Amino acid sequence: MKIPTDLTQRKISGGQEFTYEGIHGPQYWTKDYGTCTGKHQSPINIEEHEVEDVSFPSIKFVGLQNPQVVTLTNNGHTVAITFDDPEAIKIYGGPLDTYPYIFKQMHFHWGSDDKEGSEDRINNIAYAMELHAVFYKKSYGSMEAAMHYADGLAVLAYFVEVDNTEFNPVYEPLLAAFPMIEEVNTNVTLNGPINPEKLLLPGEIIVSDYYTYHGSLTTPPCSEVVIWIDFKDPFRMSHEQIEAFRSIKTFDNQKLTHNFRPVQKLEDRKIFRNVIVSDLFNSGDIKTISSSLSITFAAVLLTIPPELWFAFFGL
Ligand SMILES: [Zn+2]
Repeated sequence: MKIPTDLTQRKISGGQEFTYEGIHGPQYWTKDYGTCTGKHQSPINIEEHEVEDVSFPSIKFVGLQNPQVVTLTNNGHTVAITFDDPEAIKIYGGPLDTYPYIFKQMHFHWGSDDKEGSEDRINNIAYAMELHAVFYKKSYGSMEAAMHYADGLAVLAYFVEVDNTEFNPVYEPLLAAFPMIEEVNTNVTLNGPINPEKLLLPGEIIVSDYYTYHGSLTTPPCSEVVIWIDFKDPFRMSHEQIEAFRSIKTFDNQKLTHNFRPVQKLEDRKIFRNVIVSDLFNSGDIKTISSSLSITFAAVLLTIPPELWFAFFGL
């Protein structure tokens, strides 16, 4: 009996699918999806000496304390984490100003080995993995609607570094369920609820230390609708934990060994790094400043020697 034609090709013939290998890999996304040719694409390389220091109001997280039921899904492109009550989780502040953004899902990007896997790079160095927590602007009503606006989505990006001595206990219950989502388009709901804070605020990261820039989804249709917030500090997983991600299968029944898009050109964009200058003024005052104003405000401030700041403020 003749073996049917390549399953991958059949599934992606409608132009609705993409891969990280072969004729529908990242270098061909522009052919299948015109929007992937934009000038504000992600991921990017962040050159630390080229970023502009700014000071945003602090990022606030809402609803992280209530344990939620977690579902893991293998959608053929990544492993996604969803909660049973996503709308309870919101963020605002930072470059998002006072507008709340509602949680949608988290997912991961990884590489064939631990030397690469993150999408954004810092000084051209990749981390082993990158976790994305996706939020949409509440005022747009839904994820789908928000994807039509330049400020529609906010994605928190967390780098993952290999830990050679310890495993990450937070991820153990999730990784234990990976054998149940090895096949594409499968999902599993974990037995015990998980406190979202454990996933969204890993102990190692400092929430105020991040890079931010405007970019795109890193998967087709590559819509330029994302305010990226990349936490500077990585959190850690063991090699074995990272390896577990490489065991999930994609549409062609092959293992999804890697799923990161190569870096795109920065073009005319600026990357900002949040710095804390708040000890001089109380945060209540800063919150009233719009984010665009606070960029200018902080940029001006940083050009003035600290000993003269009192003059700037008329204190
Ligand atoms: Zn992603």
